[in-house]
Amino acid sequence: MPQIRNANSYTIKSHRDLATPFMPSEKHHSPKKRFGQNFLTDTDAITSIIRALAPNPLDKVLEIGPGTGALTEILLRSVARISAVEIDRDLDLPLRNKFHDQPGFDLISADVLDPSFEIAALGVNKIIGNLPYNISTPILTKLAVERDGIDRMILMFQREVADRITAPVGSDRGLMTIVAQLAFDIERIIDLPPAAFRPQPKVWSTVLNLQPRPANFGDEPGFRILLAAAFAQKRKTLGNNLKAGYQLAKVSSAIDTSRRAESLELIEWEHLYHALKGKAGP
Ligand code: SAM
Repeated sequence: MPQIRNANSYTIKSHRDLATPFMPSEKHHSPKKRFGQNFLTDTDAITSIIRALAPNPLDKVLEIGPGTGALTEILLRSVARISAVEIDRDLDLPLRNKFHDQPGFDLISADVLDPSFEIAALGVNKIIGNLPYNISTPILTKLAVERDGIDRMILMFQREVADRITAPVGSDRGLMTIVAQLAFDIERIIDLPPAAFRPQPKVWSTVLNLQPRPANFGDEPGFRILLAAAFAQKRKTLGNNLKAGYQLAKVSSAIDTSRRAESLELIEWEHLYHALKGKAGP
């Protein structure tokens, strides 16, 4: 079963601990809200995130959204290669200038969510990213699907999203909770306050260590369809959510139909899915 471990809390000591947010060549870059640009400026936080990746000189790392290169700059000292995918073309030049003498730096100007952007094609074994909050859920979904060959992912989320991803049974679980917990063993690394970023976001952030799990029933399209149906209306019972697409007799042979989707353990999802598999469904 997947493991979930808890985070250390984190306190900014003083603003004197903050690194300079922009290199001289980047001074004219205005952060863009639509790309979720909150740049990490706290040096202790950068160190903690990089340490969590456990970098070694053979590592080939994908960085999602390098921004102004705060993580990139430090991480490049310890790994063989960083392939950095950045959507904002205005950051191309500053990033190329900053890392022009670093042969291990490879900038890919692209949208990480573009279906033609395939992680397997990069030959990386680790992933790091302070994710743009507005699209962190679709990014995590893509990473869950494309996790094969990856040893470790260190990713930053809005704290509320991290809480949802790591939620135990009996708390606020959603479809993404089940997808993430079947795809990864998850460890909370650190919580960061808004003051760790420029510009400051309105919310706290949480860094997670996601260790990919072997392929399992959670990867099957039929299971994703079942999840979508089961969570269609969170306040409704499983019986009510599933009656349109599945034979209720099969559902009740596996699970008490008066329960809600958020109350099921992963092992119960497996049991339910196997009871329904091939028998019914939309
Ligand atoms: N890693 C930097 C840091 O920690 O300071 C920047 C993090 S900032 C929260 C998110 C970064 O992701 C931005 O540089 C943004 O332009 C980039 N980004 C946003 N959407 C993206 C997408 N769809 N594909 C690739 N990069 C994206």
